[in-house]
Parts: sequence; structure tokens; C-alpha cells
Amino acid sequence: MQNKLKLSLAHLYPELLNIYGDFGNVLTIKNRCGWRGIEVEITQINLGDKIDPEKFDFYFIGGGQDNQQIDVSRELQLQKDALYDAMNSDAVFLGICGGYQLFGNYYQPHNGSRLMGIGLLDSYTVAGNKRFIGNVTAKTEFTMPKTLVGFENHSGLTYLQGETKPLALVEIGAGNNNEDKTEGARFKNVFGTYLHGPFLPKNPHFADFLIKLALEKRYNDNIELQKLNDEAEFQAHISLINKAY
Ligand code: GLN
Repeated sequence: MQNKLKLSLAHLYPELLNIYGDFGNVLTIKNRCGWRGIEVEITQINLGDKIDPEKFDFYFIGGGQDNQQIDVSRELQLQKDALYDAMNSDAVFLGICGGYQLFGNYYQPHNGSRLMGIGLLDSYTVAGNKRFIGNVTAKTEFTMPKTLVGFENHSGLTYLQGETKPLALVEIGAGNNNEDKTEGARFKNVFGTYLHGPFLPKNPHFADFLIKLALEKRYNDNIELQKLNDEAEFQAHISLINKAY
């Protein structure tokens, strides 16, 4: 049992961006910490709530339809300074699909005006003519095993720029844009991915990678995590590997 460590997680706009079970990512962080005796305090951040960057180690935002992204895009502009302070203090961010798109510079939907992002990631997204729906297998350099699996459902095509690097390279599926074989993005401890599923339960190695980063941010120490029995998680993981559309 890890001695009493704590993490504080902000769940951004769950009433608007939380499709395809993305809340399961928050539960995974909470449970994988709880099983190790690490307490996770979860705070829902809704429209109008002010974010105190000193308070949180981890920020999560899920996916959603274009319409829900409009309100969140507007609200995120009001929280930009706080979120930049959080990023620059090495807080961990995980954005899924629609939330990931808004971590970038902008999202241009099919209809209506451009939705401004907050530019934590140097990326932009434009809606394409095809909706990509199906299983994804990708390889990341950030964890062992390298494989990441999940389910994508987006028409947005995301392009990375500057120092923002891919989270992974796609083996099966479309990923960021179905052109450059990239999937997701990383800049500092800000991560984005198109992988729903939810993402973290089927990728326990990546969940632990994020937990370690968040603990390192809070305690300024490289904390080893107690090993868990991930047999069931990896059975689910392996069942999706290379399971094409
Ligand atoms: N509305 C965005 C798109 O279609 C994001 C979808 C999502 O979050 N699954 O690309």
C-alpha cells in the first residue's frame, strides 16, 4: 500500500463533453490510485466555475458533438490563463476527441463559425467529409507495451504543428487525419487522443504513466507505483489489437 499520497483531478465540463463513456477515464484514474492507497479528489468544473490552477494535478475533458463544443469553446477562453499556468507547472491534461480538439488552436466544424481552442497543443482541426468510426490500434513511444487501443468516432481532421508531437502512430484506423499516420498529441504533460472506449481502462499501462506524471508534479519525486493484477484489462486490450473496422 502506497503511503497516503493524494491527487486532485478536475473533470472539465462533464455535463457537455462526456460521450462514449469517457467518464470511465476518470474512474480508471480514481480506481488505479485507490487500489494503491492513493486518494483522488475529483472536482467537476461546469460552465461559470473558476479554475484555480494551484488546486489541481490532473485535468480531464471528454468528447462531444459539435453543438456541445460551442459552449465549452467559449468557456475555455475565460479559463485560458489558469490552464496555461497549470500546463506550465507540469499538470497532466488528458483530452478525448472533442475535448482534445479544443486543447488545440481551433476547430472548424462543417457548419457554423470556427470554435476557438486554448492552444495548449499547437494543433488545428477542420471537419472532413468522412466520419471515421471504428477500432484503432496505435504504437506510442511513451510506454511499454507500446500499443494503445480504442474506438474512434470523429469527422474532425487534426494537424499538429511546432513542438507538439504525436501521442502515437496509427497501425489500424484513421487517427488524427487519416493522412500522416499520427494519432493524438503531446506537448509537455498535455495529452490528447481520438481514442474513446473509454480509453484508459483498456490501456492500463498508459493510465499508470499519467498517474506517475501527476504524482511527480505534485510531490516533485519519481514515485514507483505498486504493481496491479491487470490480467482482465490486458485481455480487453488484446481483444482489440488489430481488430480492423
Ligand atoms: N464533434 C467532433 C468531431 O466530430 C468530436 C467528436 C467526438 O468527440 N467524438 O470530430
